[in-house]
Amino acid sequence: MSKVKHRHSKSRGRKRRTHYKAEAPSTSRCQQCGKAKQSHHVCPYCGYYGGTQVKYIETIEERKARREEKQRKP
Ligand SMILES: [Zn+2]
Repeated sequence: MSKVKHRHSKSRGRKRRTHYKAEAPSTSRCQQCGKAKQSHHVCPYCGYYGGTQVKYIETIEERKARREEKQRKP
C-alpha cells in the first residue's frame, strides 16, 4: 500500500471543491393541472402521476377542519 506523501494545503483542497455544486432538480409540467413539478414525481398540487390519481390532496379548508376536529377530542 502506498501512502500519501504530502498533505495538501487548505487552498488546494478548497480550489478542488469549487467544482462540487448542487444542481437544481429538473422540472416538468403536470399533465393534469399544468403546474411545474419535479420530473418522475407525483404532482404535489393535484396528486396525479402519469394521468392517474395516486394520492389524494386535501384542500386548505379540509385540512383546517380536520385539525380543528383533532383539537376538540382531547
Ligand atoms: Zn398536477
